[in-house]
Amino acid sequence: KLELQGVIKRFGDRTVCDGIDLTVDEGQMVCLIGASGSGKSTLLRCINLLEPIEDGAIFLDGEDISIPGLNPQSVRARIGIVFQSFNLFPHMNALENVMLAPRRVRGLTRAELQPEVEALFARFGLADRMHNYPDQLSGGQQQRVAIVRALAMQPEVMLFDEITSALDPQLVGEVLDVLLMLKKQGMTMVMATHEMGFAREAADKICFLDSGRILEGGPPETVFGNPKHQTTQAFLARAL
Ligand code: ATP
Ligand code: MG
Repeated sequence: KLELQGVIKRFGDRTVCDGIDLTVDEGQMVCLIGASGSGKSTLLRCINLLEPIEDGAIFLDGEDISIPGLNPQSVRARIGIVFQSFNLFPHMNALENVMLAPRRVRGLTRAELQPEVEALFARFGLADRMHNYPDQLSGGQQQRVAIVRALAMQPEVMLFDEITSALDPQLVGEVLDVLLMLKKQGMTMVMATHEMGFAREAADKICFLDSGRILEGGPPETVFGNPKHQTTQAFLARAL
């Protein structure tokens, strides 16, 4: 379970997260939607301690992970993040990409880790791609490898930042299917997305961000079906 209380993030005198309260229960999928610049990516980066916050608190399973002095690496081992650009290492094959961090952080040998990692590749339809280098994989395959790489750390929570935005339209579906599989398996997830159809179908909760605030949040039926604020209505009218 992930809980944000009054999270404030500023860049200079610009407040980019302006008092964010958000609870993500175990196994829930929360989708962040909102205009470009509304603060979706920044919020995800704050949760993963890639950005320090100015005020508020972030709790992971009841533990305050936003207290200064905490080792961010130990938190990042528990919260996986996948970005729009897959960020795979080009000089390593898919298997090496996936094994790198868990070998270091979980302190396992290649032999100890390999069966588990091979099972992950198989589960996400990549069994025959393990020995390929990133430039030998399609965008959708690269993004699935990036997801497998994050999962190999056995995170408690996964964050996804527009992970289908850089993909050709025909490859979007295979990546969204991976998210549905993860949801079925009970993974707790927060994702920023412009895929409104997917958010409406798959999310447990939608948060509409506007200038760093959650202007409107709730089940998809409410936010999409009966948006209260004029700003939300206007955004959805443009996005749908
Ligand atoms: P998009 O849909 O385009 O991805 P977003 O909702 O993810 O947008 P953010 O990337 O979180 O928006 O940006 C929110 C605001 O914070 C923007 O005005 C952006 O210019 C600003 N911002 C983001 N990162 C930095 C930074 N490192 N330094 C200064 N300003 C930043
Ligand atoms: Mg963004």
